[in-house]
Amino acid sequence: MIICKEISELSQYIYACKKEGRPVGFVPTMGALHDGHVSLITASKAKSLFTICSIFVNPTQFNDPKDFEKYPVTIDIDIEKLYGAGCDLLFLPSVNEIYPNGTKPQKHYDIGYIENLLDGKYRPGHFQGVCQVVERLLDIVMPDELFLGQKDYQQCMVLTKLVELMNKKGWIKINICPTLREADGLAMSSRNMRLNKEERQTATTIFKALTYLKEHIYQLPVDTLQQHAHDMLTANGFKPDYVTIADATTLMPLEKIEKNTKAVALIAAFLNEVRLIDNMILTD
Ligand code: AMP
Repeated sequence: MIICKEISELSQYIYACKKEGRPVGFVPTMGALHDGHVSLITASKAKSLFTICSIFVNPTQFNDPKDFEKYPVTIDIDIEKLYGAGCDLLFLPSVNEIYPNGTKPQKHYDIGYIENLLDGKYRPGHFQGVCQVVERLLDIVMPDELFLGQKDYQQCMVLTKLVELMNKKGWIKINICPTLREADGLAMSSRNMRLNKEERQTATTIFKALTYLKEHIYQLPVDTLQQHAHDMLTANGFKPDYVTIADATTLMPLEKIEKNTKAVALIAAFLNEVRLIDNMILTD
């Protein structure tokens, strides 16, 4: 596996791929890699793409400086995992390489109403920061295909919009890959490393609440279901930001489930210091 810290070096490999007509698959991450990340690399490799993974803990997407400071960094283990997954190239840039003019936003990304929903509402500025870094990374890596995890459901929608705004729709194919879970259902996340033993056990409540919603979606009114799931979380010591049943295509909150409704449940909740998110498609 090639490791590049600088854009100038990376660009040589990218141009070589373009020259040979070899398509590039790109997996942007913030490191502290787990099997969920690895599944994205595997999906890219399965399509025989020259697979580039980036590890960059993007300061502009953290609305809470404490969360940024405490974000886990496990670079040596990450490199081992990427070798194991058959990743072709790791891009490991510094903050200066990504933001040579400083981290201050240069523009506003017009991603529409989705910016103020759910994580957008509870993490002001978060999605602007995500767009800022991903636009930069896409300009550098120039991938043919992008691999994203459904675990970050709203982020997938934001980045689909970003690719449209960049006029790259039709140039970059977006692949949304299923959420990988631990044996007890907890969605894999870099933030799980911050949980102590007891919190780690309690953390499965999110999956249990989502499963409860899926099992009862045609049986109880939406607001009752949301209240029950909320109660399950608070009873286990969580402080939920949101427990929402939304239209799976638009993310607008749903009031009732009709015959052709496609619904997704989304949860974001704090367990002490650690904020966890997860989601599940509820309808067939
Ligand atoms: P992150 O490093 O958390 O920014 O995530 C990098 C990419 O991995 C994003 O596209 C995430 O949606 C994806 N991802 C994170 N957790 C999982 C998971 N449990 N299963 C599949 N993909 C994931």
